[in-house]
Amino acid sequence: MADGTTPEPGSRKLLGRLKDALAEPAEGQDRLDRVVRLIAEEMQTPVCSIYLFRDAETLELCATEGLNPEAVHQTRMRLGEGLVGRVASRAKAINTADAPSEKGFRYMPETGEEIYSSFLGMPVQRLGERLGVLVVQSREARAYSEDEVYALEVVAMVLAEMAELGAFVGDSAALRPLHQRAFMGRGTVAQEGNAMGQVWLHEPRVLVTNPFAEDARIETNRLRDAIDELRVSVDEMLGDPSVGHAASGTGQSGLAASDGQDTLSAHQDVLEAYRMFANSKGWKRRMEESIAQGLSAEAAVEREQTRARTRMEESNDAYLRERLHDLDDLSNRLLRLLTGQGTDTGAEMPDAPILIARNIGPGELLAYGRSLKGIVLEDGSVGSHAAVVARALAIPLLVNVKSVTTEALNGDHILVDGEQGIVHLRPEETVTKAFRDKMAMQAKAQEKYASIRRVPATTVYGPTIALHMNAGLMADLPSLRDSGAEGVGLFRTELQFLVRNQVPRRGELAALYSRVMDAAEGKRVCFRTLDIGSDKVLAYMKPTEEPNPALGWRAIRVGLDKPGVMRMQLQALIRAANGRPLTVMFPFIAQLDEFLRAREMLYKELDREEKLGRVLPSKVEIGAMLETPSLGFSPRKFFEEADFISVGGNDLKQFFFAADRENERVRRRYDTLNVSFLTFLEWIVRRCEDTETPLSFCGEDAGRPVEAMCFAAMGFRSLSMRPASIGPVKHLLRRTNIAEVRDVIDTARASGAQSVRPAVMEWLRAQS
Ligand code: PEP
Ligand code: MG
Repeated sequence: MADGTTPEPGSRKLLGRLKDALAEPAEGQDRLDRVVRLIAEEMQTPVCSIYLFRDAETLELCATEGLNPEAVHQTRMRLGEGLVGRVASRAKAINTADAPSEKGFRYMPETGEEIYSSFLGMPVQRLGERLGVLVVQSREARAYSEDEVYALEVVAMVLAEMAELGAFVGDSAALRPLHQRAFMGRGTVAQEGNAMGQVWLHEPRVLVTNPFAEDARIETNRLRDAIDELRVSVDEMLGDPSVGHAASGTGQSGLAASDGQDTLSAHQDVLEAYRMFANSKGWKRRMEESIAQGLSAEAAVEREQTRARTRMEESNDAYLRERLHDLDDLSNRLLRLLTGQGTDTGAEMPDAPILIARNIGPGELLAYGRSLKGIVLEDGSVGSHAAVVARALAIPLLVNVKSVTTEALNGDHILVDGEQGIVHLRPEETVTKAFRDKMAMQAKAQEKYASIRRVPATTVYGPTIALHMNAGLMADLPSLRDSGAEGVGLFRTELQFLVRNQVPRRGELAALYSRVMDAAEGKRVCFRTLDIGSDKVLAYMKPTEEPNPALGWRAIRVGLDKPGVMRMQLQALIRAANGRPLTVMFPFIAQLDEFLRAREMLYKELDREEKLGRVLPSKVEIGAMLETPSLGFSPRKFFEEADFISVGGNDLKQFFFAADRENERVRRRYDTLNVSFLTFLEWIVRRCEDTETPLSFCGEDAGRPVEAMCFAAMGFRSLSMRPASIGPVKHLLRRTNIAEVRDVIDTARASGAQSVRPAVMEWLRAQS
């Protein structure tokens, strides 16, 4: 070990020689040739080869000692093909005494490797970025020892670091500098839209410039000092929960809003996990062992981080993944302490910044505001708070784009295709051109929509459909004028709660709601009371485990059981109205009594405010969201009592089809234009007509022109959608005779179709 009580490990000597070899000035290819020769010599093995990625799918033999030199830059394999391809695809070593009998073995005749029986292949990777595979082979059938495996792992990691620093740049495509190749990533669309711009990394990557330890003792002390410093900073954060933004989500759900004790920060939990790691002996020991093997303190931290990321990718256990995330975050902090590289690199934000991050909190995203043209997250989910904010800001967002944080560098040219869910980093000119043309066409369409901004959405020989917009932030209000919306059909009040570290105060909320009403200039704003729980979890509320949060304690259920926050919110709304009309809507009502009880709460608050001598709203409208099928079948009294009803199609659809809106596997499985769903919507329309209850639709589907047209055909006369959708929806409605659409729908239904979409689309095509 570092104190000299154990013999010097083999890898230390190897690393020492490697360091000298790499320090000499040489071309990339020469360096690689030297490296393989040296490893073969030190490990006393006849073959050592390096395979590097030529493109995302192909590995190329780039240097070899022992195999046929003619095969260099000729032998290639696909990811997953042969043992080398398997090492790369699984990001895991393969150590076998009898390679030919190993599953997946593929013989490459041009290399002359048939005489070598044993095989040890090690991924060359850095923080989840896969660069290639390092292989040693020998004639006799023997598995490489644990020490040898360890040594090769350390060497592979150092090679990855050196590749990152450009040590192996050469002529072949496989030796092209990293981060200069085009990269295409796929993800999930959390907010639609296209964007073109330059990468802005939320957390700039830490560059490790020296992976080698000059003096193990000095490196060990540097590591220990940095860990001590880290511990102190974590303890400080624990002492003050408002300090720092803890990393990823914590898997908590539910809340108990009215109890001060219960508002224990969930990010306190994350910090506790940090503390656990910062004090973890195993973590520290492994890093010190790496230093003893010849790595610098920084490289030792990165080695642990690389391991954690590999495990994270393999694991399906949500809890373990969260903890590994915490560890990753902690390692980043440690690296910044060791290298002195902060998060502020002094770099200037580009003109059209596209934010790249592993994950981001809603508050941080809001701080960037509308300056961002797009957002790409390596993790995240469609229902995350960041997604809620991105949606409110109408910024295209892709989530689950693998490897994007390792591939992207600040300033890289980037295209975000928020229709297909594709990211192009450093794209070829032809890709950029096609994308630019597509965006230009869309901009042209937007101009067309601008020309109909002031005219109503009157259908051909038919009714006018009222188009409202969905909002959630003060920043949304200018869209009310720009989009031509008649009012705000859904104001999601939870955003104000999601982006804060504590429950907002009544005064703050009243001021905000008042500014919203001012900005609406007399247009109707429908405030939905706090809709939290399920996917929308507040960081400062007490975590409660629920077997199925989407069906759990959420929205109005929380408001009725723990009325503190809802009462405060209702008071804030009454005060904000201050003599103006007030519209309030309760979310997630499943049966009549929930609506009556919620309404009663509002009546009580009105009485109370009156007694306090405050000016009451000139008129109060109280409605309910219809988001559960049960409410569609509720007693007539519900329809009579509600001043209006708004169909929350996002939730209604997930419960109607029993398909989680958050679950990629099922969320697109059932078409909104499915006959069963449309027939249910028709049923709701009829019930509202019977009682003359105003009805609207405010789920995402209302903003899709074809869906909106069908809803109008089924009898909806009011729709609420993202501001950007108003133009396209209005444009189609104004060209459409919805009575004809209704005929098409009814014919398709009568014919036994599962969805009316094919028939409707065919009809639309025939119109143009
Ligand atoms: C809905 O469920 O359709 C809705 C509008 O509410 P949210 O998307 O906020 O759950
Ligand atoms: Mg909903």
